[in-house]
Amino acid sequence: MHSSGSLRSHRSWGWVLLAFTIAGCATVPVTGRKSFNLIPDNQANAMGADAYRQVLSESKVVTSGPEYRMMMDVGRRIAAVADQPDYQWEFSLIDDPNTVNAFCLPGGKVAVYTGIMPVAQNEDGLAVVMGHEIAHAVARHGSERMTDQLALQVAGAGLESLLGGASEGSRSLVLAAYGVGAQVGVLLPFGRSQESEADHIGLIYMARAGFDPHEAPRFWERMTAQGGGRPPEFLSTHPSPENRVKQLQDWMPEAEREARAAGH
Ligand SMILES: [Zn+2]
Repeated sequence: MHSSGSLRSHRSWGWVLLAFTIAGCATVPVTGRKSFNLIPDNQANAMGADAYRQVLSESKVVTSGPEYRMMMDVGRRIAAVADQPDYQWEFSLIDDPNTVNAFCLPGGKVAVYTGIMPVAQNEDGLAVVMGHEIAHAVARHGSERMTDQLALQVAGAGLESLLGGASEGSRSLVLAAYGVGAQVGVLLPFGRSQESEADHIGLIYMARAGFDPHEAPRFWERMTAQGGGRPPEFLSTHPSPENRVKQLQDWMPEAEREARAAGH
């Protein structure tokens, strides 16, 4: 005997197979890694835009001053080398000195909290932060995380309600998947390989955009020294601080070549 609930989940799995066919496979820029996720980009971008509006509506947004101008300049320069024609870039500075965080949601919706500015210290440090966050979005890391979550939830809530656009569920999911989990009470940190990949891509982007890539290991050393009270994205214990700095040094010759190729 079929209940309406099982029919509903049958339709959901059909949706999954369709989505898998359309959106399944992608190649990550810079690293060339083959990835797959079940979230079509247009769906992820719509969820990102909706969640971004939500966060900004609940935040005190800074729209002038030297920190704001530096953030806009760094963001635009990194976006210019990220080569994402379907992104509609937006950059916001949120006045919150206690939040040492930043994020980029799908579709190029970037926010930096003023609490990370003392750790960034300068435009190169801020380029490390924004390059890393933009890299997570460009590599569709959140969609990979959301795919994991959907696999768990498909039999319950159903894909339709989670991917239905402007719903509480899809907002929480996309925010959690892009390191804004503290605000929505869901912890969904990026994995170790995603963090390393974001470091790598971010380093190349900042070099292409004319920032000093040697600031990257210095920034992460400052972040490590800064200690507790950080949100999941920057609290992450992986890669370990030592491995992170070593990996960044390993990628430095590539970053220097990219900088020269871009005329810097
Ligand atoms: Zn990260």
